[in-house]
Amino acid sequence: MNNSSNVCDVCIIGASIAGNYLAYLLSRSGLNIAIIEEHKEIGIPLQCAGIISKKLTQLIDVPEEIILNRVKIAKIFSPSGGSIELSGDEEPYIIDRVALDRLFYKKNQIKQNIEYFLDEKFKTFHYFKENNQKLIQIETSKRIVSAKILVGCDGPISTVGKLLGIQNNTISAIQIRIKGNFDENKTNLYLDPQWKELFGWIVPEGKNIYRIGLASSRNISKKFKIFLNQLNIDVRNKISQQGGIIPIGKMNKMAFDNILLLGDSACQVKATTGGGIVMLLNASKIAATCIIRCFKENCFSKNFIKKNYEKVCARTIGKQLKINYLIRIIFENFHSDDFDDLFKIIKTAKIEKIISLYGDMDFPRSLIFKLARNFTFLKFLFRILKKNPNLIYQIIITLLF
Ligand SMILES: Cc1cc2nc3c(=O)[nH]c(=O)nc-3n(C[C@H](O)[C@H](O)[C@H](O)COP(=O)(O)OP(=O)(O)OC[C@H]3O[C@@H](n4cnc5c(N)ncnc54)[C@H](O)[C@@H]3O)c2cc1C
Repeated sequence: MNNSSNVCDVCIIGASIAGNYLAYLLSRSGLNIAIIEEHKEIGIPLQCAGIISKKLTQLIDVPEEIILNRVKIAKIFSPSGGSIELSGDEEPYIIDRVALDRLFYKKNQIKQNIEYFLDEKFKTFHYFKENNQKLIQIETSKRIVSAKILVGCDGPISTVGKLLGIQNNTISAIQIRIKGNFDENKTNLYLDPQWKELFGWIVPEGKNIYRIGLASSRNISKKFKIFLNQLNIDVRNKISQQGGIIPIGKMNKMAFDNILLLGDSACQVKATTGGGIVMLLNASKIAATCIIRCFKENCFSKNFIKKNYEKVCARTIGKQLKINYLIRIIFENFHSDDFDDLFKIIKTAKIEKIISLYGDMDFPRSLIFKLARNFTFLKFLFRILKKNPNLIYQIIITLLF
């Protein structure tokens, strides 16, 4: 950015994974990019369990040291203590999330056309016209920046989004890292109507360190204490503690005149797990292609960005995010014994095999289509729908919009 005039082509708010990766993708185009980040250090505070499917390495080159562990089995517990073990060829990675956030930051540091402004908070923006072209003036805690494009990569409670009238539904999460004696090959997930909006988890980081966390909408501290008590975990032995916000829902509007929302700010997060990284890496590629086209065709209108970014996302990750959201609302209507019944039919009705063949941590559409042909599964689903007539309405609304 030209410091005397504070003018750039693209101004990105938020230097976490979405902001850093987008800047990296755009850097090859020669556009001048400014990144505003309110924290002094990239990746801090940590807010992630760091479990990512193997798609991570298909999407980006990941140095070995970022991958701390791989898990072979997901063990899912019902509220009564019943469990089911699912495995397949997924074997998700357990990553060092701080290092992942810094991966593209470090690569970007050596690019002439990217400039970081750390410890600087984005406050607001407004449109202005120059030579008959609509541009954006961005106000931070330290400067005024003019840009042709503004990208909100500022997380679940996005200020950019808020200024555009976009608000995510969110849930809270708490996590500790602690030494323990669980299985290093398994991720444990604990479903319970008490924390029906997501689940509790134990993720093996490796070297006998475990990430134990819980996400839910209300009374998170109280519920986390209950969860740790159930696991017999003494919180005083924790190595560190993290907290965070997870947006849960369907993808939001993310195209506006001269503006894009990307990552958690656009709710590009799986409602089944709260995982956002695979989705936002996919969305970043679409966003970068769209932004480069905006400059090539000198067109920055909402309609152009909608066509080249929002609609492309909707056709790709959006469809999968919708299915994730449908699964979530069905689970939210489960009573304790419904989980046990589901586990029972998974074990007995060849469903375990279907899951191991077609299960996909990120993209569940194929699995759902396969399950829809299984009579026992359909019978179970109809029973759940019969018990919760309101659920039918929720499903229809989700599918329609
Ligand atoms: C507890 C927890 C566990 C999770 N576990 C997983 C997991 O296992 N796997 C997975 O895939 N995903 C997981 N997620 C989700 C994942 O962390 C997010 O999807 C991902 O971090 C979103 O990246 P982002 O760049 O869009 O936003 P964020 O990572 O939220 O980054 C937003 C950035 O914007 C900055 N910012 C915000 N406001 C401003 C402002 N006004 N001015 C300047 N800067 C600003 C912030 O400081 C931050 O650096 C988890 C989330 C939580 C909370």
